[in-house]
Amino acid sequence: MAYKDKQKQKEYSALWHQKNRARILSRLKNYRENNKEKIKAYRESLDKEEVARYQKKYHKEWKEKSRGRLNAYRRKWERSVREELRLLLGGVCIICKGSDGLHIDHVFGGGKAEAERFGKQFRNMWSYYLKHPSEAKEKLQILCRKHNHEKENVLRELGYLYLKENGLTIEELILARQ
Ligand SMILES: [Zn+2]
Repeated sequence: MAYKDKQKQKEYSALWHQKNRARILSRLKNYRENNKEKIKAYRESLDKEEVARYQKKYHKEWKEKSRGRLNAYRRKWERSVREELRLLLGGVCIICKGSDGLHIDHVFGGGKAEAERFGKQFRNMWSYYLKHPSEAKEKLQILCRKHNHEKENVLRELGYLYLKENGLTIEELILARQ
């Protein structure tokens, strides 16, 4: 029955529920008992979604909160990998034995291609060479800032081919120019 008066409608509805309370409850109870498995499965599916949602949210928050810490950790790891590799390669510039602005240099060039190979992540490249020390000693060397620049200048002038054709190493050429 519908009343135009909202207050009256409310009163009627309350009265109806009061009168039929026992019947509604027993119907509900019957439904629950006859559909136990269905209700359980539904509840579990809700729980799983809820848990997944929560985990996703938590993981995102954790990542945001930890970003600074993770970056600091990564930088620290990167430094230690670089240091270890430098030590493996002798720890000082191969030309002057100095240690100003040390640079891990590709003896025969190809540093850019190598960087691409390691997803432009130097730390991954260094880490690879640490695990392959003999390959590292063959392909890499340490140069100081000054001699790294000189190598770049020499190469700009002559290129690797000149060195190869004349059986020269970049070190010999740099030393000869000094
Ligand atoms: Zn040097």
